[in-house]
Amino acid sequence: RRPVVTDPRDILRTTFGFSGFRGVQQSVVERVLAGERTLAVMPTGAGKSLCYQLPAVAMEGTCVVISPLIALMHDQLRAAEAVGIRAATLTSVDDNRAETIARFRAGELDLLYVAPERASSGHFRDLLGSAKLALFAIDEAHCVSEWGHDFRPDYRLLRPLLDAFPDVPRLALTATADAHTRADILEQLGIPHEGLIVAGFDRPNICYAITPRNNTTKQLSDLIAENPGPGIVYAQTRAQTEKLAEALARTGRPTRAYHAGLDPAIRARNQAEFVASEDMVICATVAFGMGIDKPDVRFVAHAGIPKSIEGFYQETGRAGRDGDPAVAHLFWGADDFARARQRIGEVEPARQTGERARLTALGALVETAGCRRAILLRHFGEDPPEHCGNCDNCLNPPKAVDASVTAQKYLSA
Ligand code: ADP
Ligand code: MG
Repeated sequence: RRPVVTDPRDILRTTFGFSGFRGVQQSVVERVLAGERTLAVMPTGAGKSLCYQLPAVAMEGTCVVISPLIALMHDQLRAAEAVGIRAATLTSVDDNRAETIARFRAGELDLLYVAPERASSGHFRDLLGSAKLALFAIDEAHCVSEWGHDFRPDYRLLRPLLDAFPDVPRLALTATADAHTRADILEQLGIPHEGLIVAGFDRPNICYAITPRNNTTKQLSDLIAENPGPGIVYAQTRAQTEKLAEALARTGRPTRAYHAGLDPAIRARNQAEFVASEDMVICATVAFGMGIDKPDVRFVAHAGIPKSIEGFYQETGRAGRDGDPAVAHLFWGADDFARARQRIGEVEPARQTGERARLTALGALVETAGCRRAILLRHFGEDPPEHCGNCDNCLNPPKAVDASVTAQKYLSA
């Protein structure tokens, strides 16, 4: 095994400036340092990056990180460099590739971020063979599973690459995997069952509420008025983010739109302004929030249904990372379910079963007269109490479930 050059706790303090590990981080890091193959399922914000960054610093050689999005890689790169970790990205948009390769070969990199499509190239395999490898970290590992909510065929190219270096430990990380997806990730990436480490998914400071939509602008304006801190409103389309940003400005709060179609300079500015603000409302597509570290988001609203329970959990998980009370409010319409069913009808047949199961699970969360948190946590394999005391149904038990009939109709048709 590659020697661990320093005590992990020293690195935690000196390099990262943290006084201790959080949750399962320590068990994950220990397994990795012992060279064991591991799948860490940890909610967003739980600190997955540290689980490979710390070993990358501790171990001899480079940790190769597979990451699905170039923007995400560049965020990670900046964060790693900020704490003095020697890191680089190797992507089509980097013009310093020759320099990165030279640094990698010379053993001057702790972390090398690459996209999954590189994995199939023989050239890349040779490159990896020409340097010392500490670890493979596979971020967003649910992308390898067709059961996952974000399957990326490129992730299937990873296995042969990993198997070409059987002695290099592998660490897969994901925030969002139900039991079926987890089993699939283990199988696809050649990780033994005892390598699965799951962190607690509960976010007790987030109050969940789910309401049928009748007047989106009015309902969102009321929510904004009740929550003076920064908030995110997730919209279904790019056009809707802009319309909502305009309409919600009438609440008197600063608002911005955020979506992938905006001019990159404007998008970056809106994001930076939001991160710095104490009262801004950003109306965004789901592209917003990945890699953004804003601990004081006080509410996350959905103007329509998310893609799945995983998506809901991930998006609402951006609220209240500082541990202070925060609100997650979903406004839904029967037409959301109708559209989702239509979209599922258009995807490849092999994926329809999984997509339908995800929509049904989401429907159950929307329709329940019981505890929202219980449904969420059970979805992630936890065994919660029947009542959390901090969701709409626990705080105000519904007398009759009126709107459910409509959703049921669309789910079972
Ligand atoms: P994830 O990828 O699981 O969503 P990140 O790796 O982005 O989470 O970490 C979320 C935040 O938690 C970051 O700001 C990170 O610096 C912080 N963090 C991670 N580990 C610790 C720790 N042991 N102590 C304090 N803060 C931590
Ligand atoms: Mg992460």
